[in-house]
Amino acid sequence: MREYKHLLLANKAWAAELKEERPDYFERQVAGQHPEFLWIGCSDSRVAAGQLTNTPPGGMFIHRNVANLVNDDDINLMSVLEYAVTVLKVRHIIICGHYGCGGIAAALAGNATGYVGQWLRTAEQVLHNHQDEIDALPEGQRANRLVELNVRDQLVRLAQTSVIQNAFAAGQTLYLHGWVYDLRDGLIKPMMEIDAETPLDEVPRPQPVLV
Ligand SMILES: [Zn+2]
Repeated sequence: MREYKHLLLANKAWAAELKEERPDYFERQVAGQHPEFLWIGCSDSRVAAGQLTNTPPGGMFIHRNVANLVNDDDINLMSVLEYAVTVLKVRHIIICGHYGCGGIAAALAGNATGYVGQWLRTAEQVLHNHQDEIDALPEGQRANRLVELNVRDQLVRLAQTSVIQNAFAAGQTLYLHGWVYDLRDGLIKPMMEIDAETPLDEVPRPQPVLV
């Protein structure tokens, strides 16, 4: 059988099972969404936000891109962010990177071309910002440390966006979290947190979790 047909069969089984367990499940889904979390993560197929946090449909608004980068001229990310903060009023925004990230490895190697190469300039900027620390590490540890530093820098960039600054100024309850997911044990390592009181020009580099 062609692979894509498995997806459709699995979908039928999933819907039937849910309906049997909770007959009103889909009626409740139609009524609207009230997620408490916005997840900004990598597009990597192994970092499935909902599954690895056991979050059911409706629990998490999600944006994913290569290497979980934040640019305020990225209208895709910014529209997701604006809607999540101003309409859905999520209380927590998580940027989750992951060890073994191909995007970050490519930024470190400086060998990506085409659209990916263009996209990764933001990650290369992170490398530039922390070049001394990265250069001082043994080669085998550099990519994963850059993953951690990338989460830190993207979280600060997120906090600096007009959407977040306006929400903080308005006293909206909102916490920004920087996490890294470890493919080897399936566990998320929380790295840092930013709220309305955090001075953004003094956000320290996170302690290395994995070196
Ligand atoms: Zn990745």
